[in-house]
Amino acid sequence: MTAGEPDGTGVFVDTMAELTWYEVERAARDGAVLLWAFGVIEQHGPHLPTGTDVYLPSARLRAVRRLLAHRGIEALIVPPYYWGINVVSGSFPASYGIRPELMREVMADLLAGMARDGFRHVFCFSGHGDALHNRTLYEGVRVARERCGIDASFVLEPALVDRLGLDPGDRCLTVHGTDPADSEPVGGVEQPQYADVHAGRAETSVMTHLHPDLVREDVRAGLVATDLGPAELAVWRRGFDDARRTTPLGYCGDPAAADPDEGRRAHAASAELAADAIRTRLGLGRNAAGTGSASD
Ligand SMILES: [Zn+2]
Repeated sequence: MTAGEPDGTGVFVDTMAELTWYEVERAARDGAVLLWAFGVIEQHGPHLPTGTDVYLPSARLRAVRRLLAHRGIEALIVPPYYWGINVVSGSFPASYGIRPELMREVMADLLAGMARDGFRHVFCFSGHGDALHNRTLYEGVRVARERCGIDASFVLEPALVDRLGLDPGDRCLTVHGTDPADSEPVGGVEQPQYADVHAGRAETSVMTHLHPDLVREDVRAGLVATDLGPAELAVWRRGFDDARRTTPLGYCGDPAAADPDEGRRAHAASAELAADAIRTRLGLGRNAAGTGSASD
């Protein structure tokens, strides 16, 4: 990747790590909010890089930051966190995880440091679908709020709130709206009949839009769609050897059907939804009540 391209693959692009401490201190004093992505290094099939769950939320945060700036809200991006929890991919190579209590404590310590610097609002995003990873992210936010009083929250969609069994009114959460395209056919194209949840059509589409140089295009185009229904998906979610047996190539979905235009649209929609929810939580939204669901 050439230096200077705005959506390059460098992990520090547009993050706080490119600023001096003077600039960070001034931003905190001026009331800037923080945006922080929590991904993981994990296998993403034979066609996507293991950093996919870091690249995607990082790009999303850059887009959210631009949207917030248009609305007069300054945001800094914290360098991405990428040593998370891997259950589903735990038996594949290049899928590294740590114990949940370690992630929770690292989060709590770092959030305490951000609170000490004077930052009041930290919006935490997940780049990784693993349930235990997301429960741990929630725990890190909860513990940090208790220990240092910072307004940290986990920005997520209603479907994930449900899957984790959380209360959408919990102040540890900033729940955003649902992209209508997730439940309706796009341009007459039927949504996948089978689960498309890991390195499949949806995720591969966004990667082919944002980072085409990192997609093994020759491999992707020849991959056969998986056909997991709800029962097989439940087995897959048990993780480790169950997942590796269920999807030996690592992906779950239809990467051959990926389309960069679909990826561009999904990426833009996900940034808009998050920016709206953040604005609402800060009391600057069109719908300032509630926990951040955009109901208008
Ligand atoms: Zn992923």
